[in-house]
Amino acid sequence: MDLSRFIGLEIMNNLSLEVDIFPEVETAELDKKMQSILTLNAKKLFINSLEGLVKPRLLPVLLKLLSISPDRKSSAITKEERIALVKLLKHFKLTFKALEGFDKAMVTAGGASLKEIDPRTMRSKLVDNLFIAGELLDLDGPTGGYNLQVAWSTGRVAGENAAK
Ligand SMILES: Cc1cc2nc3c(=O)[nH]c(=O)nc-3n(C[C@H](O)[C@H](O)[C@H](O)COP(=O)(O)OP(=O)(O)OC[C@H]3O[C@@H](n4cnc5c(N)ncnc54)[C@H](O)[C@@H]3O)c2cc1C
Repeated sequence: MDLSRFIGLEIMNNLSLEVDIFPEVETAELDKKMQSILTLNAKKLFINSLEGLVKPRLLPVLLKLLSISPDRKSSAITKEERIALVKLLKHFKLTFKALEGFDKAMVTAGGASLKEIDPRTMRSKLVDNLFIAGELLDLDGPTGGYNLQVAWSTGRVAGENAAK
């Protein structure tokens, strides 16, 4: 959600994102862990043996990307497939088609340039007696309360000064 602010700007440039799902573990260490998981769960389905390691919703996605059938047992996983899984977990690539649009957006980006506003009063420097606040400004922040704070702070300043 937070990254969409930047993706929105970069999307025209064929942006891709690489996620390291196990940033705290080196590739070799993760491969070792995977080997022991496969050995310990040799009789189980491969997909079930990964439970607890990877979020359940990600499991079918991983299998699909690795072209591993869901009915394969852990013991049937080849060394190449195991290495490919580790590589995928360390370098999970995402590409973007589009943002979800206005209906799903949490904040609009863009609006009246801050250069055109007096920050002490939120009054427009271009149009007499026009006060601008909140999302009408070219001002947006990460999720976590910044946008509400912008709305409240600029709204109060704009309101008080408009009333004068
Ligand atoms: C689902 C969702 C979750 C969010 N979560 C967070 C969060 O966790 N933290 C955070 O900081 N921000 C969050 N935001 C963003 C934050 O809510 C907005 O940035 C903020 O409310 C914008 O305030 P605003 O007063 O500029 O605009 P708005 O809150 O959109 O207020 C504009 C008001 O103007 C009214 N209006 C529109 N046209 C007219 C008209 N012609 N005449 C009269 N009235 C009109 C609208 O009905 C509306 O009440 C979230 C937004 C959404 C949609």
